[in-house]
Amino acid sequence: MLYLEHFGVTDAGKVRENNEDSLLVGEGRDQTLFAVADGIGGFEAGEVASSIAVEVLKELEPGEPFEGAVREANRRILAAARGDDRLSGMGTTVVALRFSGTREEPEAEIAHIGDSRAYLFRNGELTQMTEDHSLVAELVRSGDITRDQAAEHPQKNLITRALGAAEEVEADTTSLPVEAGDRLLLCSDGLTDMIRDGRIESILSESPDDPEAPARRLVSAALDAGGNDNITVVIADVRPHEGREEPAARRSGDTSEMEVVTPPAVQTGRSGTSGGSRKASGKQGRNTQESKRSRRRKFIRRILTGVVRTVAALLVLAALLSPVYLWGNNRYYLDYEGDDVVIHRGLPYSVGEMELHRHWKGTGLKKAELDGPYKDQIPEHKLYTKDQVEQVVRDLES
Ligand code: MN
Repeated sequence: MLYLEHFGVTDAGKVRENNEDSLLVGEGRDQTLFAVADGIGGFEAGEVASSIAVEVLKELEPGEPFEGAVREANRRILAAARGDDRLSGMGTTVVALRFSGTREEPEAEIAHIGDSRAYLFRNGELTQMTEDHSLVAELVRSGDITRDQAAEHPQKNLITRALGAAEEVEADTTSLPVEAGDRLLLCSDGLTDMIRDGRIESILSESPDDPEAPARRLVSAALDAGGNDNITVVIADVRPHEGREEPAARRSGDTSEMEVVTPPAVQTGRSGTSGGSRKASGKQGRNTQESKRSRRRKFIRRILTGVVRTVAALLVLAALLSPVYLWGNNRYYLDYEGDDVVIHRGLPYSVGEMELHRHWKGTGLKKAELDGPYKDQIPEHKLYTKDQVEQVVRDLES
């Protein structure tokens, strides 16, 4: 028999005023369920989106599949956004973990959308269990950039999948056998953007008997590294049962033989401006066919496969980008048009002939007049909500 000991903590970080992350630490109907959601949207909206995701997961019954909850959370976020202008364009990532299986073969199920992550720490080694749905993760997978370049990429916060971004959404799910001694970590990008996996691994190797200490240490490490974003960490430790007193809580009605000890989740720190903004890319097909016929035939074939390949790549990109495009419709960024500073609406990319952005309005500012930190940010095309970009322009004017 195994039991779980867990701890969750969230902190607004040093830059954001709001905390748009939400977490679930075993307080749902399924007490072995844990989740982290990182909301995106203007001002309060991200907070609304991430808490809807957590509320829906709280209702998930033991044994009920994740898919229904994911669809329901997506539907509720879209409905809330339609009913209120201030919430339009909001969305959230989510990563959820729960324990199931049998006494002989306990397992953990993981589902995720976006760039909040799950890690397994086992025998001193950290393994990332989720693949980010993000632009830079796609670029790393396609070999276009390295992991180090991804860490520095100006669009590293662009996600390609989120709850609330489109009518249809699908989580990636995976499951793994668990054993006593396993430590599972869920976190938002406010942790992983600030500290490297090696650091996370070494912090998780401390205090094997206490999930609270490493959870708090991870948050402090992210704060010390700058705390640019909301930081959320949930740790669930799987322990052997022998030599323990009666656990504080016992789950009922599911197949798992796991028991749960439940310290409360903790929220610390301030509350943030809108979460980042996020996005996508596509993969090229491969073509290795070689014709042995005449040069001419070879030439024609080459053109044709080129065309087919390009069309296929564009179709893949269009499919990948359509939710991103809808999403990006609520994003704004500054750019230069000649010497003028202008605001574009959308995302700073084009796919083939299709531009994912359009000129929204001018600012009356000139490139030469700019001073201060924003000057460097403009070529990076940092994405803002409408309210934020207007604030930035006011800051630039003063
Ligand atoms: Mn975040």
